[in-house]
Parts: sequence; C-alpha cells; structure tokens
Amino acid sequence: MFGWKGKVLRVDLTSDKITTEPTTNYAPKFIGGRGIIAKVMWDEVSPEVKAFDPENRIVFATGPLTGTNTPTNGRCRIGSLAPQHPKEYPSHSGMGGHWGAELKFAGYDAVIVQGKAKKPSYVFIYDDLVEIRSASKIWGTDAIKSQKLIQDDLANDHKITGSEKPQAGRYDPRLVRSVLIGPAGENQTRVSSILHDSGDAAGQCGFGGVMGSKNLKALSIRGTGSVPVAKPKDLVESVFKARKLLRAQAKPVVPAYGGPGGIYGGDPKILTSHMKRLDGCFGCQVICRAYIAPPGITAGQAQCVQLQMYYNWEGVGPVCPPHPDFLNRPQDETSWYGVKLADEYTINSFELTGFLSYLWAAYKEGILTEENTGIPFKDFGSKEFADKLFSMIAKREGFRNEFGDLLAEGMHRAALQLKEKYGDKMWQLYEERYTAHGMRQHWFYIGSAKGPGDQTGYPNPIGQLLWATDTRDPYSNTSRNRETYGSPELCQYLYGTKDAANPFSYAGKAQAAVVSQHRAVLIDSVSACDWFFPIQTNNPLFKEEAGIKSEGTGWKEAEAEFYSLVTGINTTLDGLFTDSERVFNIERAAQVLRGRTREEDTFNEYYFTHKDRRNNAVDRPAWEKAKDDYYQIRGWDLKTGIPTREQLEKLDLKDVANKLNV
Ligand code: SF4
Repeated sequence: MFGWKGKVLRVDLTSDKITTEPTTNYAPKFIGGRGIIAKVMWDEVSPEVKAFDPENRIVFATGPLTGTNTPTNGRCRIGSLAPQHPKEYPSHSGMGGHWGAELKFAGYDAVIVQGKAKKPSYVFIYDDLVEIRSASKIWGTDAIKSQKLIQDDLANDHKITGSEKPQAGRYDPRLVRSVLIGPAGENQTRVSSILHDSGDAAGQCGFGGVMGSKNLKALSIRGTGSVPVAKPKDLVESVFKARKLLRAQAKPVVPAYGGPGGIYGGDPKILTSHMKRLDGCFGCQVICRAYIAPPGITAGQAQCVQLQMYYNWEGVGPVCPPHPDFLNRPQDETSWYGVKLADEYTINSFELTGFLSYLWAAYKEGILTEENTGIPFKDFGSKEFADKLFSMIAKREGFRNEFGDLLAEGMHRAALQLKEKYGDKMWQLYEERYTAHGMRQHWFYIGSAKGPGDQTGYPNPIGQLLWATDTRDPYSNTSRNRETYGSPELCQYLYGTKDAANPFSYAGKAQAAVVSQHRAVLIDSVSACDWFFPIQTNNPLFKEEAGIKSEGTGWKEAEAEFYSLVTGINTTLDGLFTDSERVFNIERAAQVLRGRTREEDTFNEYYFTHKDRRNNAVDRPAWEKAKDDYYQIRGWDLKTGIPTREQLEKLDLKDVANKLNV
C-alpha cells in the first residue's frame, strides 16, 4: 500500500495481548483517521457499553497523508464513547503535533486500545517492539512532567536502548513522543483532554477520562520508518502549488490568531516578549503557533482558542455581552499560567472557558458563593483561583457540596443538578453559553450584519444545521463557512449553490451544510488541518498573493489530488465525498442505536425563546423546514432522521441497514 502503512495495532490491556491486523479492514473504504474510528466503534462497541467500561475502545487513527510532505498532515484523530456527551455517543476529537506521524513511522495506521490494565500502565511502541509497561511511578504526575519521566524510564531500560547510555540518532528515548493524561484523566473526569507535547490536545469529548478508566497513562512512540508515496515527483509539484495558496490564505489570519500575533491570552506585548520561536505541527508550512516561556511558568505552545481560556472568561455567549469586570481586568502572564495548569491536569481548556463564564455569571447573580461551593470567587482570574478550581475539578475534590466532583461531570450534567438545587436560572445560564449536545458554543457566529468575527448572534443558518445534525460540535466547519457569506462566487464554487451566500435565510443552506460535512469528514480522515483546508478564500489579497488568477476562489480539489498522488488510487473530490458520506452515515447509525432522533437534531430551547444580541430568535417553523431539506439531501427518513435502507445500500452499508432494522 502507498500512503497507508498497512497495519493497525490492537492492544488488549485486560489480557496483555498485542496483535496487528490489516488496514485493508478499514481503508480505502473508510479512508483513514475519523473513518477508521467510526468503523471500529460501529463493529466493536455495542449500545449497552458505557464510556468507562473496559469493553469500550479508544482509537488513535491517522490518515493516508499523515507522515508525508503534504501540507498540515500532522494532525490525527482520537475516538471513543464520549464521556462529555449527555448520552455518551461515539465521537471523535482532533490533535495536532507530531505523534500521528511518529505512529506512521513506527509502521501503523492506527492503534485500537481495549480492556483495562490491572495497574497503571503505558504502551511503548518502537517500530515492531510494542510493550505494556508499568506507569505506577508516573501515575498522579502532571502530563507535562510525565513525558520526561517516560523518556527517563525508557532511557534506563538497556533492553530497549541496547546500551548503557541513551543513543543519539535512530533510537533515542529523548525523541519518544507521547499522548497522555494528567490527574483529570486518571480521576475519570468527563472533561479531560489527552495531551501531546507541551500544548497539543484532543480536548472535546472527554477522552482523557476513557484512558483513565483503562488505567492507561500514555501511548509513547518512536518510529524510524517512512511513508512511501505512489507518485513522489508529481506530489512535490502539487505541494508547492498548495503552499503558495496556503500562504496567501494564511496571511490575513495567522498574524491575528496564530504565531506571535496570536498570543492574545493577555496583553500580546507581554507574552510576545517571552516568545522563543514559532511552532507548528509536523508537515505544516503555515506554522500558526508560537512557543513561549515566561519565567517561573511552564513553557509551551501558544494556540489561539486555548489562550482565551483564562482571559476571555466572560462574553462567550451570543446573549452574554462581555462583563465590565472582564473588560477592566489587568492582562498579564496569569492567563498563560491558567492555560498551562489546565494542560498539566489535562482539563479541556475549551470546556473550562464555559465553566468560568458560567460560574462567574452565577456568582454575580448571587446564586453561587464561596460558602456554598468552596470556590474563592473574590480571587477570580488570579493564579490562586486557577490553582483551587482546576485542582477541585481534576481531583474530583469534595468540598462541602462536593462541587469539584460535580464540575468534573461536565457542564451539562452539572447544570442539571444545579437547576434542581438553585432553580431555573442555573439552567438558563448554561443554555446561554452552550449550543447543543452538552457542547459549548464557538466563536464566529457569522452571517451577522457586523460581518466575519462577530460573536453577538446565534449560529448562522449553515452553522445551525451543522450544530444540530453533526456527530459532535462542528467547529471544523463553522470556522471556514464564515467566509462564504456574502460571496455567491465562493458558494457556487464550494457548495454548488449561490443561495448559500445570503446569511439571513435558509435557502441553499441544507446543501451547503451537507457539502461542508463531507469536507469535514474528509479532512479528518485523510489528515489535514481544518484551520486551512479546504483551500478557499474570498479575501481580496488572495488572488494577488497566490498569483494564480484562474483559481481566485481557491483549490477545492487539493485534498483529492494529494490523496491520489500519495495512495496511487486515482480519484476526485466527488469520489472521496462518497467515502465521507459513508463515514458520516455509519457515525449517525451508531448514534441512532443509542437514541439519536430527529427531535435531538436541534440546539438548546433557549435559542427559540430568547433573542440574541442582534435581536433575533430562531424561527421554529422555518428551522423545521430547513431540517426537512437537510434530511432529503442526506437520504434520511424525514420523520425520524434515521438513514434509510436505500441510502445505506447505496453507500455499500447493507450490514448497517440490517443492524438498524430499517
Ligand atoms: S495550521 Fe497550525 S494547527 Fe494547523 S497543522 Fe499547521 S501548525 Fe498545526
């Protein structure tokens, strides 16, 4: 095989059995990455299994482009039952960095972990050598220090190093890369991320808790191989073309949101003075992050959304304007301290942003106090406050009403209990900040009169359909869709309909949402970064910068061309979209088996009954009609939202239709 390495590793922590199986069990039919995860979860995890049961699987999967020279290929997917989700649906989360490429270099396309180790353990992979090793001495240590402890543990094992001293070159324990958990994962919180290096993390879904439930501290890898590609010469030419376009596309956004200009978790001037270098994932020429090291605080990668966590803790909802306390707050290294503390504990920073905003609002309402929670609200925003709150969550610390334990269940479950205790206002504060499915709202609710970047409104019509129907929170789509509003040319090019350009109607939006979901699955499955793929833009700088006049709206076939040249399987974007559709339908089917219905394909009730800051509420009849249009295009039953047999058989998923009994 070209692109894929041909082997999937399976580690059974209950029996200590380590096996491999052919990647052809999954690819090319399910592409890779997210597609492999969807297939494993469908085949192997029955609906009765819970997220923290040993029978649950956790899958780490790369795509055929991972480890090649295609742009932004360093990302990989992690999937399992999601503890954060109210119904623990199977889902997935993405992570950048170098770990995915290292897995390919070791000879594997994916790792499936099942069972539960008797004692804290980590899995070490060094090409063909795969071991389950004791993590007893590391358990309880934060996720950043633990990476060094794992490297030391391996350096001291002569069986592995082959000499008394760590070797430089092909195998050096200091080059071992890990994905791992800190105390929040070990204590099976539902809001635990999985960390890699000094800041890459798979945050949403709470998969760190799944690793904790398996007594699995880390998967640590050193690979010394390479990834063969079918047409290397042609690929180099295509990569150069893409680089040019990506540079033009990145120019207006990276200085604002990434790199040194993106260090805005506080005063950019202060944090930029601590910047050591630019930082990027494997194979990325955009390099959107920076590595910073303020004195006395853990150093690491700075990334835009993560950096807002301990800074932008108010004003995160479409109905919550920034609180004056937030606007007047001094901005210094404290925001960075909070971010790194969350990484050390492996608490999902994105979820923490919602927590902080919610807790602050409930405190200002006079509902939550230090007395009834143990949270020192008077110190809100300080280092001491972060120390206390994050520790309570990560360690499920019971203080008085066991508030840390409550928050460790994630905001959806916590808000349900707080509503019981303190009344409806606590649920309203939750719905103002969270969109649907227990997931927090994102920035960029575009389509507003104020243009891109405006955060004052409910999701735009494409965003609404994505939020309601996706198999997780759909940031990967909404971040790119914002550019299409107001550009009939771009909408025609990407979605095949000019109607999608009007941000104030549902016309053309169902089609745009479906195409956008095909694209998201493709990006997550081949391995590319949803920051910059698809290559599209309506920025006027683009044509001039790219110097490719005939392709002024972008290069939407880029992923398909890379896939064809890497794997040797000649295909088109439409061909790959069929594979994406197959993956999405099997994800949907797995959620249907666990209770997903048309009724659930919506956002929180608050969106229909309260107006956003632009004075709009969602129009229910128009919304239901938009859903009909969406199901029609998907080939799903209009009444139930369940994929029809006809549609599943068209996608070569007869077995799925049989199991769904449709
Ligand atoms: S754009 Fe940023 S997040 Fe995406 S692959 Fe490049 S460095 Fe990583």
